[in-house]
Amino acid sequence: MERTLSIIKPDAVAKGVIGKILDRFESNGLKIVATRKMQLSRTNAEAFYAVHAERPFFGDLVDFMISGPVVVTVLEGKNAMQINRDLMGATNPKEAEVGTIRADFAENIDANAVHGSDSVENAAIEIAFFFSERDIS
Ligand code: ADP
Ligand code: MG
Repeated sequence: MERTLSIIKPDAVAKGVIGKILDRFESNGLKIVATRKMQLSRTNAEAFYAVHAERPFFGDLVDFMISGPVVVTVLEGKNAMQINRDLMGATNPKEAEVGTIRADFAENIDANAVHGSDSVENAAIEIAFFFSERDIS
């Protein structure tokens, strides 16, 4: 069993598609083992996206991630990390395959509906950023 972290970003929460996105996970064999709706602080968002700190879009990304509440979820299943990445689609929704979350619910590369861990190693780090083991069941 593998775990990965998903974040439903402020654009998708504002659109009212939390349930539709969580359904994609469950319908594709991923188990929701922890989930929480929350407002990220600027400090939270900067720390979470620290790997992107030097990128030109970092400031806009942080501003966007704190523009409204998000839903942070731990998904569990065989190959959970890659399955979630496949369900998400490409970073730029215009390039995302038909039927993916980003193709169906995202507007543009800034407001692209979801975050997903990009490796099993990063998933463990990202899960620990938001949840303790007793939150996960
Ligand atoms: P992903 O979310 O698909 O793993 P990255 O880790 O490369 O993509 O980037 C993190 C987030 O930063 C993206 O989801 C997107 O919101 C934003 N981002 C990435 N590249 C760009 C870009 N060229 N312009 C604006 N925002 C970007
Ligand atoms: Mg990424």
